[in-house]
Amino acid sequence: MSGSSTRPPASDLLPMDTTEEVRARQAGVAVLPIGSFEQHGAYLPLATDTVIACTIAREIAAEYPVHLLPPLTFSCSHEHTGWPGTVSISAATLYAVVRDIADSLRRSGIHALVLVNAHGGNYVLRNVVQESVGGETRMALFPGPVDWDRARVRAGVQTSSHSDMHAGEVETSMLLHAHPDMVRPGYETSDCLADDRDHLLTLGMRAYTESGVIGRPSLASAGKGAELLAGLVETFGKYLPLLTREM
Ligand SMILES: [Zn+2]
Repeated sequence: MSGSSTRPPASDLLPMDTTEEVRARQAGVAVLPIGSFEQHGAYLPLATDTVIACTIAREIAAEYPVHLLPPLTFSCSHEHTGWPGTVSISAATLYAVVRDIADSLRRSGIHALVLVNAHGGNYVLRNVVQESVGGETRMALFPGPVDWDRARVRAGVQTSSHSDMHAGEVETSMLLHAHPDMVRPGYETSDCLADDRDHLLTLGMRAYTESGVIGRPSLASAGKGAELLAGLVETFGKYLPLLTREM
């Protein structure tokens, strides 16, 4: 199944479809990238999660017949408060925006929405999807933990998913693959492990890292980023039938 033949050349981060192209595709499933604007150490941009979510969503749209949406670029980054540049919106706002987008899509005939989330702090998205069960718009949250685990194995990622929390091997690899120009020098020497972080919700990241990094970016490579992305795009195929089958 491929939507690439009907899709014009895409901008790297934003969909460039016209309304006529969307009409012709008749996609029944929309894909919404959700990023963040938060510190990612000294070598990755604040927009890292947005870039990763858009990259995953763009590759999905190149492979499957979905309606690709522009990203949400702010989300729940409160644990990064205090580092210059970080901006958050509340969980209540994120919840409301996602619900509004789902309602708007439904009015134009799209009854399924996949949230492609790249920021771990967006816990509220699990509730949005949970509450959609039995409702008018079917929803999924992607990638799930199992999808990430499979992609990590495929890519040969060495750091465990718990240790590789922020600006580490996975995120740096994804950017080295998709947008190497965005990665500044320094990731090779910025490893910081903080496996014991039981009170992250209460204390925020500051209690566990000086640099803002938790993970081992020195192990990152463009090759791992390519395999991570390919693995995620492959497992996305399991979601489409769930969203489109008759209930
Ligand atoms: Zn991130």
